[in-house]
Amino acid sequence: MNEPASNIIWNMTRKCNFRCEYCYFPHDNSPVTRTLPVDRITDFLDATGRTWTVGMTGGEPFIYPGFVDICDALTQRHRIGVDTNLSVSSKVREFARRIDPARVQDLYVALHIQERERIKGVPAFIDNARLLIESGFKVIVNYVVHPSLEDRFRADSDFFAAHGIAITPRPFRGKLDGRRYPEAYGDRARAIFADHPEQGRKIAFNFQGVPCFAGKTLLRMDPDGTVYRCPGDKTVLGNVLDDVRLADDAQPCTKPRCPCRGLDHVVLTKTQRLLVDGVQHAVVADFETSAAAFERALEASPGHPCAQNNLGVIAWRRGDAAEAARRFEAAGAARPDKDAYQDNLAGVGSAEGAFDPELCLDVNPSVEK
Ligand code: SF4
Ligand code: SF4
Repeated sequence: MNEPASNIIWNMTRKCNFRCEYCYFPHDNSPVTRTLPVDRITDFLDATGRTWTVGMTGGEPFIYPGFVDICDALTQRHRIGVDTNLSVSSKVREFARRIDPARVQDLYVALHIQERERIKGVPAFIDNARLLIESGFKVIVNYVVHPSLEDRFRADSDFFAAHGIAITPRPFRGKLDGRRYPEAYGDRARAIFADHPEQGRKIAFNFQGVPCFAGKTLLRMDPDGTVYRCPGDKTVLGNVLDDVRLADDAQPCTKPRCPCRGLDHVVLTKTQRLLVDGVQHAVVADFETSAAAFERALEASPGHPCAQNNLGVIAWRRGDAAEAARRFEAAGAARPDKDAYQDNLAGVGSAEGAFDPELCLDVNPSVEK
């Protein structure tokens, strides 16, 4: 396999000037005082002889001291992407003036509509987003479809479209009322993502045991310069202020849930690719493509319990309870130790309320939990 492109995700700060209700960072909007010298970062990246894309994220990167200078330094030899709430208008204007759009992969702009309305920041947001779009940057405006926002997403999307700003729904990731999202989304959210399949398909798979180039072509860096294998695996590879040892080759993944970018860095077998493809289509309600992928996975690996289970989920969503039960039974017989298969079978049997069976996200049966 060809080596994937090189990405480093730089978590610049945990501070932010917003206070979104669903944010998992502590809400600390005091000034950022702890910074890294950008020349140490460029020295490290340059020494690898590769061109990196530096994903600058936080907290809020635009509140980082000298942020635009740092972007300027990084983009001399490398590329950047930025996750931002786009609220620091003076810095946004400076960024648009000084940074070459050709060296910026994406600007991922989070709308966070309730917080934006709370601070009366909608007009400034529209101005900032339009400035960047008109300056030639690729701006992707994300709307986290928290379950509490599902009913207003369409109206908000129409409002910003009228101002020339396209909104992309982004899945809420996390637990709410004991259910894990995005897998637990119902029909209304699935319909939203059906119009934006590239977003709905960002699922946190279990790649445990699968070879992955993370540690070589994917890294994560903390505010203090510590470099980890990836966002999911906190194995320390060093610190840019000292020394960083990158992996020589792909190594097995050790974590049960992989953040979405890992998908570009894992080395999948044919069956594993089909399982991933099937799940990605299932979560955006493309049941035909999804079922075809799972059937092909079963052809390649007869009896594969994860493929059987997921065909059961598709059958249930299509209203075929008997077929669903048959599939869950087959999956459970192959892996009696896996609770999810038994729970799905029991749920189909009782069929109380709006039962929604669980998709299997374990692509490697030898280590699936
Ligand atoms: S903008 Fe992002 S980092 Fe800041 S509070 Fe909201 S979710 Fe958290
Ligand atoms: S599969 Fe994901 S979690 Fe595992 S090593 Fe690769 S990037 Fe990290």
